[in-house]
Amino acid sequence: MTFPFDQDLISPQIHTKDPYEDDKFHEECGVFGVYGSEDAATFTALGLHALQHRGQEACGIVAYDGTHFNSHKALGLVDTNFNKASVIAKLKGHAAIGHNRYSTSGEPALRNVQPMYADLDFGGFAVAHNGNLTNAHTLRRELVKRGSIFQSTSDTETIVHLVAVSRKKTIAERLIDATKQVKGGYAIIACAGDQVFGLRDPNGIRPLVLGKIGDAHILASETCALDIIGADFVRDIQPGEMVTIDDKGIVTQFPFKKAESKLCIFEYIYFARPDSFMDGKSVYEMRKNIGAHLALESPVQGAEIVVPVPDSGVPSAIGYANASGVPFDLGIIRNHYVGRTFIEPTDKIRHLGVRLKHNANRKFIEGKSVVLVDDSIVRGTTSRKIVEMVRAAGAREVHMRISSPPTIKSCFYGIDTPSSSELLASQKSVQEICEHIKADSLAYISIDGLYKAVGETGRNNKKPQYCDACFSGQYPVELTDHAKNWTGAEITGLKERNKA
Ligand code: AMP
Repeated sequence: MTFPFDQDLISPQIHTKDPYEDDKFHEECGVFGVYGSEDAATFTALGLHALQHRGQEACGIVAYDGTHFNSHKALGLVDTNFNKASVIAKLKGHAAIGHNRYSTSGEPALRNVQPMYADLDFGGFAVAHNGNLTNAHTLRRELVKRGSIFQSTSDTETIVHLVAVSRKKTIAERLIDATKQVKGGYAIIACAGDQVFGLRDPNGIRPLVLGKIGDAHILASETCALDIIGADFVRDIQPGEMVTIDDKGIVTQFPFKKAESKLCIFEYIYFARPDSFMDGKSVYEMRKNIGAHLALESPVQGAEIVVPVPDSGVPSAIGYANASGVPFDLGIIRNHYVGRTFIEPTDKIRHLGVRLKHNANRKFIEGKSVVLVDDSIVRGTTSRKIVEMVRAAGAREVHMRISSPPTIKSCFYGIDTPSSSELLASQKSVQEICEHIKADSLAYISIDGLYKAVGETGRNNKKPQYCDACFSGQYPVELTDHAKNWTGAEITGLKERNKA
């Protein structure tokens, strides 16, 4: 049976560049799913709102009412796209899945907005994915050769096609069959055959949690999305675990070969919301611990004020201030009505963005030796501007402290980082970066210090307890596509293509 599909796409299509130009897919997202509530779409909209920090480019919800799949997808933020009762009313169903998409470059086209949906032989299949598949191009080329017709440039669509061609019997088996072929970091939520599925990659690089409200089961990237709807946290979905939820309850299985757990350590540093818990640990507390370790490793003699680069630097700056005894103050004020600096696609706008976003709180920094705390330096744009701004506001000295080790490598598992050549720390030494951002001193937390701060005795160099590839260059999952060095048309095997 094929379910009719009511799809409403409200935003105009925008194509800024060749979708195949990039050397990797750009997906960095938040996912949410509900089974067993007549408020499924409302819960999903609220959940996505709580997960907005994981993706601001586009959002979508697909709901299932027992007969129909109902969908609404659009470019932009959750509160602008799902604020109307008429939109929610259209998303009828006791099951729903939703997605926030984040992309710093690549194609912000509507056809890439998730959840992806297809009418397969067993009926409708909707899927939402947070993460990045490292062999998606390779699989895509094979699928295209075998006749699959791709509609988007998103790696998530590869999963749809793999499920479509799988010869396994049940939908759960077909999803397992599909995901056994993909590599990378992923948390997947799917809806098909009156079931909702949640799946975490074998290493658990991307997070996924299970919650409960009344009789309804909830899946979400982070616990803050459970809090917003008043759902109870049940547990983290384990690395390599798949849960199947339907009217009979919840079934769990571990279909993959057992692998080492490798949660992305950058979730603790920057990406997750501080009020979330991940693997039982408070993200906020981890950030404060990192700041405290940073203070012990790299104190600043004669410092008079610790100032966070808001908002992401706040918890670690509090930790730094507490551990060092140097007073904490908001010496920089952030305008909250601008998106994250990093997401603006061109350098020109990115530069402008920093000024739009932050202003020095002159009275508190004038004449002082300031310790600035931020979570990371990527291209160095933010640090350079902030140091300049704080100096212009009268600071006597500006010392930069970073609550992550130097970012030297790109992430291929779902955190969007520029290519290595654009990463300041892969090109320059700490001293050179210090000169570049014009600070009086610069220090990063050591990788061992980072591991201690998140509760380990240090980094187990033979078997790191987390994925820290962006700091160490040790990638836990094979980079199949990247190793092939494909670009442009080579990715799809197509010489000509429609950019629209
Ligand atoms: P940059 O200005 O290029 O050095 O970027 C550093 C700033 O971007 C820091 O203030 C971080 O809070 C933020 N940042 C770091 N990594 C990411 C990421 N993957 N996505 C969005 N923002 C990020």
